[in-house]
This record gives sequence, C-alpha cells and structure tokens, in this order.
Amino acid sequence: MLYFLNTFLGVIIHLSLIKIQDICYSYTSYLHNEVTYEIKALDKINLDIKKGEFVTILGTNGSGKSTLAKHINALLKPRNGIVLINDMDSADKSHTIEIRKSIGMIFQNPDNQLIGSTVEEDVAFGLENLGTPASDIRNRVNDSLKSINMFDSLHQDINKLSGGQKQKVAIAGVLAMKPDCIVLDESTSMLDPEGRAQIIDTLSILKTKEKTTIILITHHLEEAIDSDRVIIMKDGQIISQGKPYDILTNTELILQAGLLPTNILEIYNSLKKSGLDLEDKVLTIKEMVGALCLLKSKI
Ligand code: ADP
Ligand code: MG
Repeated sequence: MLYFLNTFLGVIIHLSLIKIQDICYSYTSYLHNEVTYEIKALDKINLDIKKGEFVTILGTNGSGKSTLAKHINALLKPRNGIVLINDMDSADKSHTIEIRKSIGMIFQNPDNQLIGSTVEEDVAFGLENLGTPASDIRNRVNDSLKSINMFDSLHQDINKLSGGQKQKVAIAGVLAMKPDCIVLDESTSMLDPEGRAQIIDTLSILKTKEKTTIILITHHLEEAIDSDRVIIMKDGQIISQGKPYDILTNTELILQAGLLPTNILEIYNSLKKSGLDLEDKVLTIKEMVGALCLLKSKI
C-alpha cells in the first residue's frame, strides 16, 4: 500500500518539469554620475510546464520572453519568487550545473553559440564536455544532424555556412545532448519558411519520440500551431494562455498583444467581413479549405 502511495505521489510530484511561482525581475541600468534606474522585465509570472509539454511563448519585442527563458536555465535568478526545475531551486548555486544539463538553450544569434571549426566538431563539443564516450558521440552527432537535414555538411567549415545553417548547427548541438527540455529563444528567426518548418517538425518528433519538453519562443504565430499550449506575454506579464486554436483565432487578443495575426486568420476575417458565412474559426490551411467547401455545399 505504502509502495503504491509512494509511486502515485512520485508521479504527481514529477509531473512538473518547470514550476515558476510569482517571479519578478528588473534590470538595473546605469546613467552617468552613478545614477541607476530599474527596468521591469518580469512582473509576477506564474507558470507550470509539464514534462513532455510543447509550449510556445509569443510576445512582441521587450515583452519579457528572453528574461523568462534565462530564468528557466538559471542564467538569471529571480529577484522575488521561486523557480523550480525538476524540483531544484534555481536560487541554490549547487543546482546550477544540473539545471543547465536539463535545460538546453538555443539563442537568437548562432555566432554566440558556435565553438568548433567544423560542423562535426561543434555538435560534438557539448557531448565531450559532458564526458560522453567517443563511440556514442559519433552516433549522436550524426543522428542530430540528420534530424535537421544537415548531415551532408558534417565536415564543412562553420564560417562558410549561412546564418540559417549556423542556427541549425547550434540546434543540432543541443539536440545531441538530449536535455529534458529545449528552449528556443527566437532561434528560428534567421531561417527561411522552409527551414523554420523543418525545425518545428523536428521539435514535434522529439516531443513524441523522446518526450522532450519544448519551449518555443517566437513572434511567428504560425509556429505555435502544433504546440500543446500557447502563452502570450506583454509588458512582463502572461496576459493569456490556452490551446493554439483558442489563442491563435482570437484576433482581439493577438492585436492587444501587439502581434500580427496568422495569414489564415487574416483571410478568415476578410472573408467574414465581405459577408461570407464561415461557421467555425479556422487555424490551418486544411481547416480553411474544409470551411470553404462546407460553405459551397450549402449554396
Ligand atoms: P523580449 O525577449 O520579449 O524581447 P526581454 O526579456 O529581452 O524581452 O526584455 C524585457 C525588458 O527588459 C525590455 O524592456 C528590455 O529593454 C529590458 N532588458 C532586457 N535585457 C536587458 C539588459 N541586459 N539591460 C537592461 N534592460 C534589459
Ligand atoms: Mg528576446
């Protein structure tokens, strides 16, 4: 009986990978004469992310997304409130290395993240640091490059790659380390639509196959369609969250957050305005085609 109770509690306790309670954060900026002023970046954030969840965080520039991301891998510590990663308090320095192993971060600019001189060296770098056996390193480097269609560039010089290709290598480096969670902070912004779609597909596969938790930070609403939950930030606060369908079809909310609606939502709104009686809101091209076919069948 005690065993079952323990197991049950274990499942309950470990459901959350990330638990953020009431965190606030302000940057201190310096003027001349040592005068300082505070810029509020996070304002009472509460967030619980479950293991294996795919969460997209949307918000305009300056809404606090990167500051939140940096709290998730202990690059920043909250001024108020608590951040727990796998039940480890990020304020406790003895947890920092373990937290950074659990949370793989990919930033906006790949030039700040690439270390090796060839693609292979770069992707292997993190694994070598973790003390991974050499035979495993080769397989993991190859697998992660294949998953983002970059295996052909294995021996290529990093400096000869385009911005988008460099970003893919940075992503492969984190994928190879198989962290519990991957945070992509505007990491797809340098990629073309095809490259972005490829990364989103890879993330969906990782979520399904490896149960990796994904936190995708972006201002491209289309990228949020496949996630389990969409969070909207504005002025350092979470102003709304929910299923992609409910959030991404809410024109009022999207405009309030200062974001651009998806192309499909814009088409939907113009069709409605021009008098077409489309029934449900639509999120994807497929749903739009379905809604138009239904309308046609009624005429
Ligand atoms: P986002 O990633 O959504 O663009 P940020 O978290 O980078 O938002 O920024 C939130 C707020 O904090 C903004 O007002 C920004 O100007 C400010 N900020 C971010 N980084 C710094 C910094 N290093 N020093 C001072 N202010 C900063
Ligand atoms: Mg940012």
